[in-house]
Amino acid sequence: MQEFELLNRVFALNASLPPSVTLGPGDDMAALQLATGTSTILVAADSAVEGVHTPLGGDAYDLGRKAVLRNLSDVAAMANARPLAVLACAMIPKGTEPARIWRLFSGVRETAMTWHAPLVGGDTTVVTDQSALCVAVTILATRVDESAPIVTRANALAGDGVYVTGSIGGAWDRTTGLGRHLNFAPRLEVAQSLARLLGTRLHAMIDVSDGLAQDLAHIARASAVTIDLELARVPVAPGWEARLAVAHGEDYELAFTAVGEVPPLLEGVPISRIGTVRAGAGALMLVEGDRSQPATDAGWEHAT
Ligand SMILES: [Mg+2]
Repeated sequence: MQEFELLNRVFALNASLPPSVTLGPGDDMAALQLATGTSTILVAADSAVEGVHTPLGGDAYDLGRKAVLRNLSDVAAMANARPLAVLACAMIPKGTEPARIWRLFSGVRETAMTWHAPLVGGDTTVVTDQSALCVAVTILATRVDESAPIVTRANALAGDGVYVTGSIGGAWDRTTGLGRHLNFAPRLEVAQSLARLLGTRLHAMIDVSDGLAQDLAHIARASAVTIDLELARVPVAPGWEARLAVAHGEDYELAFTAVGEVPPLLEGVPISRIGTVRAGAGALMLVEGDRSQPATDAGWEHAT
């Protein structure tokens, strides 16, 4: 079973959520508000597993850091959001050197503090039949501007431009597992600036973790629109070909849709227009010259 199918089946059981859940499962974060007029609390969780998200046997600091960075990237994806705090639960193979566990939690704590999110709780469990170190991090966030909305995946509108920050492709090396996915700067500042600058012209946003094509398809589905992604316009990393880059994953850039002018550079981060939103049935189309085809297998997800 594929990851998204499994999660969708689980979330489908949440038929009626209480009114305090203002944004339910299926976006980069969920949102909670206890009473009208009070602060919105955003929450998300991500894990990092040695051998899946970082190379096996590497510095455990990298594992802790990556778990937090993945969460921070989800905070960025809500645009009008800033991190508040993190909690971390580690699953530790029996016999792991204490120094390695210390490195893991140092990676979590120091990374979170860098982005003003103190580590406020967590847990460790020693596991006997497991050899990979794992850490699951929960992040809490709130709105930067309490009078403005958060930006979800579900509000892309026909006529919007489609944009991406930075460059796509080459974030991890298939052979070594190394690359910038181990130590990237989450796009919090550029996301917050976009929210401030564009206001209600900023319609939908997602962080690019599963591959640009897959993540744009999430926006298309959630917003019930069609997105034309022009491959020639995708800013690919040096040595990369667009068709491979959009399926590769782990870029941790932001993809978004907006109407009107969008600056080509913000907070020192290049922003490229890569496509257009049009009315349609929730599909992503890959456009090359005058050829256009539905993106079906682009992107990846963890098979269970
Ligand atoms: Mg995300």
